[in-house]
Amino acid sequence: MKYLLGIDQGTTQTTAVIVDEHGEMIEKNSVQLPARFPQAGWVEQEPTDIVRTVKEACAPLLNKYDIVAVGFDNQGETFIVWEKDTGKPVTPAIVWQDTRGQSVCDALVSRVDLNLLRQKTGLLLDSYFSAPKLKWVFENYPEIRKQAHAGELLFGTTETWVIWSLTNGRLHVTDPSTASRTLLFDMNRFEWDDEQLTLFDVPRSMLADVKPSAGYIGDVDFGNGKPLPLHAMLVDQQAALFGQACFNAGEMKCSFGTGSFLLMNIGDKPRLSDNGLLTTVGWNFDGHTAYAFDGGIFVTGSAVQWLRDNLKAIPDSPASHAAAQRSTDFGVVVVPALQGLAAPHWRTDVRGAMFGLNRSTTSDDIVRATLDGIACRVYEVVTAMAQDAGRAPPHLKVDGGPSGNPYLMQMIADLLNLEVRVSAALEATAIGIANLAGVSALGTSLDDLSRNWKAEICYLPKMKAEVRNRKLAQWNKALVAVKVFHDETKP
Ligand code: ADP
Repeated sequence: MKYLLGIDQGTTQTTAVIVDEHGEMIEKNSVQLPARFPQAGWVEQEPTDIVRTVKEACAPLLNKYDIVAVGFDNQGETFIVWEKDTGKPVTPAIVWQDTRGQSVCDALVSRVDLNLLRQKTGLLLDSYFSAPKLKWVFENYPEIRKQAHAGELLFGTTETWVIWSLTNGRLHVTDPSTASRTLLFDMNRFEWDDEQLTLFDVPRSMLADVKPSAGYIGDVDFGNGKPLPLHAMLVDQQAALFGQACFNAGEMKCSFGTGSFLLMNIGDKPRLSDNGLLTTVGWNFDGHTAYAFDGGIFVTGSAVQWLRDNLKAIPDSPASHAAAQRSTDFGVVVVPALQGLAAPHWRTDVRGAMFGLNRSTTSDDIVRATLDGIACRVYEVVTAMAQDAGRAPPHLKVDGGPSGNPYLMQMIADLLNLEVRVSAALEATAIGIANLAGVSALGTSLDDLSRNWKAEICYLPKMKAEVRNRKLAQWNKALVAVKVFHDETKP
């Protein structure tokens, strides 16, 4: 039997999986990746820790299986700058959540044609992406800027850095999906864009070669002296879209964790959203091109954590299901905007709120209303994507911890009036990137992968239209109220 190694280099941990030729996961191993928060809004990781977690996650699997190909997915916008000659990092890994690029965005906003920027990159001028933070580094550390412009430094997202490290500097590579998260890449031409490079003061000499998302890239040594062929690279969310077999335009997935990340495959032509969603490259290889709408909800699982840790309303996260079922007061509404409202509202100043509290309100009612609030946020993003795409998705595929919550999943199915399919594969992301490596190395077809995709459980909508409409109307009133509240309290 031939095996594939999928490595999911995520924000909180690195997970390595062994997948067989049929796409079944055989074994997995995860290693936590620490982060530090040196100042408000700053989020950093140690570049050497990222390489270490990749090696440690893979180590127990390497000698056990006949691995024919490796796929490697990454955190997206997180980046590192290092010296070309010595491999010594000159920045920490600056994580996607880090907001230090905000001042750069504020300074550029009046000088930039934001429409053109969107058409080229699919993105917004926001500190979430790599380039504003890279420019911040240059502005605050002139020596780094000088070295960069002298051609002495390299820039890389986490896969670029790890692959460079594991090949002793032989490979300095990325793929179009990851490049499309930097604000430096033209998603239409699949090339770094000179105007964007000038805007952010980035010399082209720092940037990696953009390789197809799948295809033989080179051999990578994970530390056991037996190099393995690398065949696939993607951003983690795009790997999950692939792992969920969303190969056709209109298909979409939602990966639940502390936040929830929705991607909809929109086919092989880029398209811009009217609802503030991002457009991103899904994958691009060998005749297969997919673009995707991207909408993130920052607080979903973490709102359940908040119910558990701050309100002590539930003993653990899965207990939110039973608590919600015990609730009898449906007049309570929670807007779980604990870190603002992103797509499609883009009101990052807004915070959470509870409405309809009364003398008999119980903690179960608050838990139920919080889960309903999460479901309403998913409803909003899916609806925005469907509007932009001009078509309703056939179903919603979900994965991640909270997808094991039957109350929440049923509520999402009910509000959307759409079937929700929970992936049987617990590691949709790592399996997705392993399977993409299999497409390149073993010639697996996307049809095979679609056939092999299995649901653990499917939730069919069963709510009456009038109940759904009432719930959504109640939610919309609550949203208007929180927005007004924060309008008025602005200094
Ligand atoms: P990660 O975000 O690290 O990928 P998970 O996919 O396990 O990890 O998601 C963890 C988050 O999901 C936590 O915030 C937790 O509170 C929440 N969560 C996990 N299981 C459930 C559940 N059954 N119901 C509701 N929330 C859950």
